[in-house]
Amino acid sequence: MIGKLAPWYREHGRHALPWRASRDRWTVLVSEVMLHQTQVPRVAAVFDTFMARFPTPAATAAAGPAAVITAWGRLGYPRRARWLWEASLRIVQDGWPSDLSELPGVGRYTAAAVAAQVDDDDRVGIEVNIRRVCERVLGTRLAESEAEECVREIGKGLRPRDRLLAMMDLGATVCTARAPSCDRCPIVSLCATRGTHADETKRRPQARYVGSFRQRRGTVMARLRVGPVAAAELDGEVLASLLDDGLAEVTRGRAHLPRPPRRGSSPGAGVRGR
Ligand code: SF4
Repeated sequence: MIGKLAPWYREHGRHALPWRASRDRWTVLVSEVMLHQTQVPRVAAVFDTFMARFPTPAATAAAGPAAVITAWGRLGYPRRARWLWEASLRIVQDGWPSDLSELPGVGRYTAAAVAAQVDDDDRVGIEVNIRRVCERVLGTRLAESEAEECVREIGKGLRPRDRLLAMMDLGATVCTARAPSCDRCPIVSLCATRGTHADETKRRPQARYVGSFRQRRGTVMARLRVGPVAAAELDGEVLASLLDDGLAEVTRGRAHLPRPPRRGSSPGAGVRGR
């Protein structure tokens, strides 16, 4: 199943994305964590500024969790910022683990994606775009191992880094969820469905953001970024969830962003209100 993915990727890949030029492990990890739940344009808009402030695990660990959470701004799902800071602390204390999924907030896909981009590691990461391409090509739902095999077949001839990024870019720009452009797809000759799956995602209802718990969390997080505030003034249910996630602390009745742990304590220690 050898297609024309390599020349397509050379010509149409999203090579200008700010993180694509780097093979620095920390830079790639930050990009993958950000991209996990935030769209590419929103990440691209803040990435360089964030990296200028937190260029290394050491700089991130030293800055403390509140600085990272504040700089995370409106990327959403700020638990990722907390995890990133905890990961930086782990790396500073113990070095990089051989399996990145040992770091807080780093799952199987992210570990494989970073390894592929930094080391050309042959592990295959399956994210939403890649899975969609494979399932359309084969015309069926796929288990993780089947999707991985599909990527290896479609990406034959590409090095692991280019294979991952090419598949990701194909899914994001050509084989899109709502309207695949099969007429400009480099692997159309391999594809069993050729766009006939297009409507399934169109009909899937979007989760409402307005009035959602996520929106309420965003409102409280925005207030905490300004500075400490009386806990009683905040949405109690939301504050409890932020305490659980290590995104806030309460000291003498005032809620604030988390402070660095005292020397000798673990990153998660002291997260609950005192
Ligand atoms: S031919 Fe169409 S459905 Fe198939 S992989 Fe290409 S863009 Fe996707």
